[in-house]
Amino acid sequence: MRAGFDIGCCPILYAAQVKTRQLGWLLTRFPVNHSDNRKTTQQRQRVSRTRQIIEQNQNAEEIDITRVVESIMLDAIDANSSDIHIEPWDESLVVRFRLHGVLKEFEHLPLELAEKISARLKVMANLVNYETERPQEGHARAAGSEGGVELRLSFFPVVRGGQGHSFTRGEKIVIRIFDPKSRSFDIDQLGFDADTSATLQELLTRPTGMLLLTGPTGSGKTTSIYAVLCHLVRQCGSSISISTVEDPVEFNLPQISQAQINHAREFTYPVALRSLMRQDPQVIMIGEIRDAETAAIAVQAGLTGHLVISTIHAGSTAGVFARMINMDIEPFLLASSIIGILGLRLVCKNCPLCAMPYQPDPILLKRVPEDVRKDASWRRGGGCETCNDTGFTGRTALSEMLTVNEPIRDAVMGKVRIRKLQKMAQEQGMKTLWESGIFRAASGEIPLEEILRSVTEDPLA
Ligand SMILES: [Zn+2]
Repeated sequence: MRAGFDIGCCPILYAAQVKTRQLGWLLTRFPVNHSDNRKTTQQRQRVSRTRQIIEQNQNAEEIDITRVVESIMLDAIDANSSDIHIEPWDESLVVRFRLHGVLKEFEHLPLELAEKISARLKVMANLVNYETERPQEGHARAAGSEGGVELRLSFFPVVRGGQGHSFTRGEKIVIRIFDPKSRSFDIDQLGFDADTSATLQELLTRPTGMLLLTGPTGSGKTTSIYAVLCHLVRQCGSSISISTVEDPVEFNLPQISQAQINHAREFTYPVALRSLMRQDPQVIMIGEIRDAETAAIAVQAGLTGHLVISTIHAGSTAGVFARMINMDIEPFLLASSIIGILGLRLVCKNCPLCAMPYQPDPILLKRVPEDVRKDASWRRGGGCETCNDTGFTGRTALSEMLTVNEPIRDAVMGKVRIRKLQKMAQEQGMKTLWESGIFRAASGEIPLEEILRSVTEDPLA
């Protein structure tokens, strides 16, 4: 059931909405959770700026697109959303906000506005505003909290329609919002357990070596890597030289030289890194290692007196070694250069104001070890005004830190199997993503379903 937003399509509710608006308030258009033991709330929400502008003009031709776009941004920023999704559905142009990690329908706009909104956003991001058949990406700034907010915009061509109708072209637009006030690049704020945080801070005191972060897209790698860089700046002040090469630069950091890859100008990772090495920075952050050439330069930098921090896609922390070997890096070079691998996943955490005890599905509980199950106090948010009825307040990182010590180094050089490497790391105290997730769910911080959605007991299976 699509609760909530349908107000705009129902004449009775619409009339009630217009009436209540005179009081300045109306029923929320955000959907309400209807899970078994969750309470149903009638949350109230201020009339959105966007809705006001749309309703002032009955004719889509007369709507001021600049104001509509601006109001979507302001509404999203006011709601503390991290992303705006704008996409054409069958009957309307749907605007959704990601609030506390969950996508929520915010407005349904007339489809006729789709092209104009897209063109306006492209102008803001200095992109080609009439190009609709190729993906485009860009940056812009929007008014918001002090100094405005950074926006990263992505335009992706899609088709819609079918069912006897011909396809119509459209675009799916995703806007990520980076509000400096709501983004804390602080290791202690990421949600890492005390052991991970302490190990990470110890690794950052090393003058040389490679620290790699791994996890799927949206697992918090960028935020974590920025927190690591800000930590170094806080620790060392202006005495440290830090340079980054990123694709793209997501956030401007103080006291750090950030370079953005530009494929059109052949400013690729290998080109940028080779040049950067001549400037000899102490710390080099590489946005992502995804090809053999970049991997080779990164390893070389890590072996020659630089602290290299980067991300890499791999199924698990131990799997990073296999991924690098597949990129033609010799095991002995890996063993000497990698100092630690941090595995990450982002999960939504319960809203403290509405979290209530609940009993997870018995089928899910079977996956939880007996000793954890018997002392668990499972909790889940039911939805309240503070959490926009999502049941969550923000996201937190699950972490798994594989520290490379002598036994692990020997094992990598001896080309042992990944599973054995993983087991060795666990025997030496590495807490896996699964273990830390289940523990935090059992303590009531995160719903069990969130953990099971994002981690598996055996990542190598
Ligand atoms: Zn709540």
